[in-house]
Amino acid sequence: MTQWNHLEYGSHNKFRQIQNLKNIFFYLLGTIFACTSSCKTTENKYQKIIQRIEFVFNLKKTISQNCWKHFNEKKYDVPLIYYTKKESFIANPTPLFLKQIHSKLIFSSPKIVIYKTNKRINNTEFHMETNISLHSNNKKDYELNSPFMHCSSFEITKKYVGGTNSTEYWATMVLHEYFHGFQFKNNDFLNRFSKTNLQKISEDSLCSIYKSNPWFKNKIKIENTFLLNAINTNNISKRKKLILSFLKHRQERRKIVQKKWGIQIEEIEKNYELTEGTARVIENFIATKFKTSPIDYQLQRVDSHYKAFRYFKNYKLENEDWMYLPSKHYFYATGYNLTRLLDQMCINYKSKIFQKNGKSLEDYLLN
Ligand SMILES: [Zn+2]
Repeated sequence: MTQWNHLEYGSHNKFRQIQNLKNIFFYLLGTIFACTSSCKTTENKYQKIIQRIEFVFNLKKTISQNCWKHFNEKKYDVPLIYYTKKESFIANPTPLFLKQIHSKLIFSSPKIVIYKTNKRINNTEFHMETNISLHSNNKKDYELNSPFMHCSSFEITKKYVGGTNSTEYWATMVLHEYFHGFQFKNNDFLNRFSKTNLQKISEDSLCSIYKSNPWFKNKIKIENTFLLNAINTNNISKRKKLILSFLKHRQERRKIVQKKWGIQIEEIEKNYELTEGTARVIENFIATKFKTSPIDYQLQRVDSHYKAFRYFKNYKLENEDWMYLPSKHYFYATGYNLTRLLDQMCINYKSKIFQKNGKSLEDYLLN
């Protein structure tokens, strides 16, 4: 049995610095990853939690309508485990989860049911990850072939992720994770992902190559600059030249890695760019949406950390350089910039990219 850990919210931005914590986004085992509906209207001591979860669910709908089709469809829904300091809750659990973890229904609506588990599911204080187990022999594992989203409350998250200033900021992280759930609910993508040689070259390995080798870091910076310049030009032939230079440079870099250490990083790099770059598309969409979103009075009534989008009024991607400049987890930025370039070129990659024979982001550049 092997295990793969992926760090989320590492040192990739000025806001989201985790303090002394390895945050796992998903790990893959095997080959890799009460009351009743009347409670909605009566006072419920869990109102804040319920409203927060509903807030996130409503945003999924907005994303589905305006950014990434099908995201909100039931077949792509992922259970969400929400942790407070001493308790845990689960929204839309699977039957297997309920069979194994004693839980009590505290809320239900046509779209969401929320249970409180009798005991907190684990002792780890901070969660912001999506987990899935694959090819495990443990049939009782409720995460076997089934992604689960785990997130700690705003109150816990702000202790670990610097700059978490409001419930709505916290929601951008939760939606990033939800999107990983959507990705892995696409079976074709999951198969593709799990077949890649993840045990030998983990995300950590890529980060440590980046960190320990200035030449590698420098080449990533050059590649990223080609991407940024291509995004910023409307001259088609100039853009084409930049794209060809970008592809040539990364091919050379990957060849050097293979020669030096005998490892092929192309497929794994493409997978990470795809998973993280597209999750960042969701984050940017939501942050932009928040600039003009109407106040959610229901949430405001119960959650003093909801700031009515105050911190997003002046949101501009250009000011968020952590989104598009590479750091140790460079594939977040390069992946995201690839999506920006494809958008700029009006290439519709979204509808097919998680489906059968889906290509990687960079493969679409030569369309
Ligand atoms: Zn992620």
